[in-house]
Amino acid sequence: EPIITFEKVNKWYGNNFHVLRDIDLQVAQGERIVVCGPSGSGKSTLIRCINRLEEHQQGRLVVDGVELMDDVKAIDQVRKKVGMVFQQFNLFPHLTVLENLTLSPMWVGKLPKKEATEKALLQLERVRIAEQADKYPLQLSGGQQQRVAIARALCLTPKIMLFDEPTSALDPEMIKEVLDVIVEMAGQGITMVCVTHEMGFAKAVADRVIFMDQGQILEQNNPNDFFNHP
Ligand code: ADP
Ligand code: ADP
Repeated sequence: EPIITFEKVNKWYGNNFHVLRDIDLQVAQGERIVVCGPSGSGKSTLIRCINRLEEHQQGRLVVDGVELMDDVKAIDQVRKKVGMVFQQFNLFPHLTVLENLTLSPMWVGKLPKKEATEKALLQLERVRIAEQADKYPLQLSGGQQQRVAIARALCLTPKIMLFDEPTSALDPEMIKEVLDVIVEMAGQGITMVCVTHEMGFAKAVADRVIFMDQGQILEQNNPNDFFNHP
């Protein structure tokens, strides 16, 4: 039983911009998928459909047993299972690093404060940023901020992690520290779908590389075969 299933999924923006065309995709539990392809090909839209930041109009999409329809309950259910990390870190600038985790909208009121703090610190340690817990995001480097965003997503112990070009907004010298954290996470069995142009990273962690163009999946293969094209 795949943890994510797309069956003939189609999506349009407005009435006539066909952004996802007959997407068929199954992701196994624990599988690590890298999605690549030219800018504007629909990569971001594809992964945003998984946690309902975008809605498809046709076809079937099932995430960990939840059928995604225009159903508020399905959105809530799926967002508990799916963590997401964006290109722009999307941290709250007026909250400390620790508060960005403990006061995350997904969390507020759900855990006693002490427990939330302990859990948050654990995740900050996991991305090696716990010593910055009391700083504000803008006092940190881009790489550090992105690691905080990753820790925040991990607080929900998601079954699936989505990454939307997690290193594209970073200075080159910070890319590695973020990729290293994701590589570590990949080794711990979490299902991940990552949109990225970092092909070295894809080779190192992907079980499967998917190439999209103009809203279609044109190719999917293991990284060895994918990158050894004639
Ligand atoms: P990629 O991630 O591959 O760069 P996107 O999924 O972000 O591609 O976008 C695919 C296409 O859809 C682009 O042409 C983009 O401009 C368009 N698009 C994205 N979001 C919207 C939106 N909310 N409304 C209309 N068009 C959009
Ligand atoms: P990315 O390429 O990183 O996915 P974009 O710059 O394409 O980001 O999009 C940023 C935001 O603007 C997204 O929320 C996307 O849905 C929206 N967007 C992108 N293209 C369009 C468009 N043509 N019309 C309306 N909204 C768009």
